[in-house]
Amino acid sequence: MAKPIVAIVGRPNVGKSTLFNRLAGHRIAIVEDTPGVTRDRIYADADWLRHNFKLIDTGGIEPKSDDIILAQMRRQAQVAMETADVIIFIVDGKTGLTDSDHEVAGMLRRSGKPIVLAVNKIDSFKDEDNAFEFYNLGLGNPITISASQGLGLGELLDEVVSHFPDYEVEEDQDVVRVAFVGRPNVGKSSLINRLLGEERAIVSEIPGTTRDALDSYIETKEGKFILVDTAGLRRKSKVKEEIERYSVVRTLTAIERADVVVLMIDAVDGIADQDEKIIGYAHEMRKAIMVIVNKWDLIEKDDKTMDKYLKNLKSELNFLAYAPFLFISALTGQRTQKVLSMAQECYSNYTKKIGTGVLNDVIGKALMMKEPPVIGTKRLKIYYGTQTGVKPPTFVFFVNDPECLHFSYARYIENQLRDNFDFKGTGIKIEYRERK
Ligand code: GDP
Ligand code: GDP
Repeated sequence: MAKPIVAIVGRPNVGKSTLFNRLAGHRIAIVEDTPGVTRDRIYADADWLRHNFKLIDTGGIEPKSDDIILAQMRRQAQVAMETADVIIFIVDGKTGLTDSDHEVAGMLRRSGKPIVLAVNKIDSFKDEDNAFEFYNLGLGNPITISASQGLGLGELLDEVVSHFPDYEVEEDQDVVRVAFVGRPNVGKSSLINRLLGEERAIVSEIPGTTRDALDSYIETKEGKFILVDTAGLRRKSKVKEEIERYSVVRTLTAIERADVVVLMIDAVDGIADQDEKIIGYAHEMRKAIMVIVNKWDLIEKDDKTMDKYLKNLKSELNFLAYAPFLFISALTGQRTQKVLSMAQECYSNYTKKIGTGVLNDVIGKALMMKEPPVIGTKRLKIYYGTQTGVKPPTFVFFVNDPECLHFSYARYIENQLRDNFDFKGTGIKIEYRERK
């Protein structure tokens, strides 16, 4: 299930990172062998009173002059307005109100998005009065917080979650959201246009199903889909890191909201670090994933070329062993008719339900075939397991002591599930819980 997205916007040094780290609480899950994923903190999972959400820190580099600060803040706010469901606008209660705060508040106000105004660095009660002047921003009641002391955060979060959209009502079970990700020029738009142009495809604008201009709705014999183009920023910028961060924020949001993530690679250029990183996020979020190698028409080939290419690619993306691969040409249409059927197959595994009976038969057999190793003085016992959710398939296994689970045994169990049930093209989640 897609989570609401909350973005933090504010001037440099107002405490965005401090707040981000506070709210993120626990670190985002580190999945082994996923390259580069957790090094920069652009987004994190957070929760408050049964609400789960994704937090984005749109803060970028440290600018040196007021002009640059303002220009950067405008862009930051722009990205937040495009991607977030709720925006936390954070200002500095020690410095007081500044011109750039005014400017950005105006932009945010006009966007019509829910904005929560947080006045930070109110470390003690006697500083509360500092917050009054921020009423001038026209963003409603300022909420006073101290990110570093952890004060006022409950109030802030109450306000934030009160603005969350009701995804459960909004979600149509039958419509598959497919996000196409990949570097500029790999052929994302070409492929989407071809799919939309294919015979028997019904393309329409259905209000409420498409979130922005880059979403297209389509009905085919394979099913109903929303195709999402994640074309990042192409505009040239003086500040390269900043642009990269913003296009990452946009892409991450699209991934978060997608059911199936399609990584597109240019056959000639091959895979880049950026691709691994982006698809690493999708992997961490346990989305359904497939990989498309496009521009296959440009490769000179013999009968072994595809096998060789596939082998190299799979070793570079070794954490994606479960994903299917497809070689196409968006230009000539070679194999493009397989794209949506493959996406549908990934989706059906992403929403698959396994009965408790057969699940426990498989667990029982797996335990018999390979005994868990002794950890310390104890050996893991799995009493029983049950599926608790879909999107992705999520399981809870009740055990004597989760500490006794060796990662290699966890991998073995996951592989046993994958061998016995078809989970091709989707992440799965297994949680080990102590049975009391
Ligand atoms: P960012 O540039 O907006 O991400 O700001 P940072 O989170 O890096 O914080 C900038 C500075 O403000 C750091 O020195 C923080 O320790 C300090 N800071 C952050 N929150 C608070 C707070 O609630 N009270 C005080 N007194 N200082 C804070
Ligand atoms: P995007 O930036 O990922 O959306 O990429 P585009 O769809 O705009 O494609 C970038 C360029 O690659 C365009 O000039 C396309 O005509 C070209 N292109 C896209 N798909 C193919 C393909 O399968 N083969 C060849 N030879 N060129 C392609």
